[in-house]
Amino acid sequence: MSRTGSCLCGAVTFEADALPSLQACHCRTCRKWSGGPFMAVPCKSADFKGEIKRFSVSKRADRGFCPTCGTHLFFYSKPGDMYGVPAGLFDEDPESVLRAEYFIDEKPENYCFAEDTKKLTGAEFRAKFG
Ligand SMILES: [Zn+2]
Ligand SMILES: [Zn+2]
Repeated sequence: MSRTGSCLCGAVTFEADALPSLQACHCRTCRKWSGGPFMAVPCKSADFKGEIKRFSVSKRADRGFCPTCGTHLFFYSKPGDMYGVPAGLFDEDPESVLRAEYFIDEKPENYCFAEDTKKLTGAEFRAKFG
């Protein structure tokens, strides 16, 4: 489903082909990047307009942000050719509930979600998504 959104300052806008899902990643990289669990809507494609800064944290993935306001724009999985776009960036909140939690073995003890989710460890995530 085509959905639109923007960064905090509005310099970057996007249109994404979003799946009806909401996922959270608890891995250390995502938590360092997001300041907490990374809540993302998986998107088959995402077309960003405006200047973005893109960097690689591993061979498997890129992450992007707005160089003006610093809003995190996407996680891009190279093997999956999929974007994870932060749920808060969309013009309308995604209606889907939290369905999956990744890297559950890296989740700290100080929070947990109430939704009944499919939970994958880091090893299970890598085996499934590469
Ligand atoms: Zn911005
Ligand atoms: Zn992660």
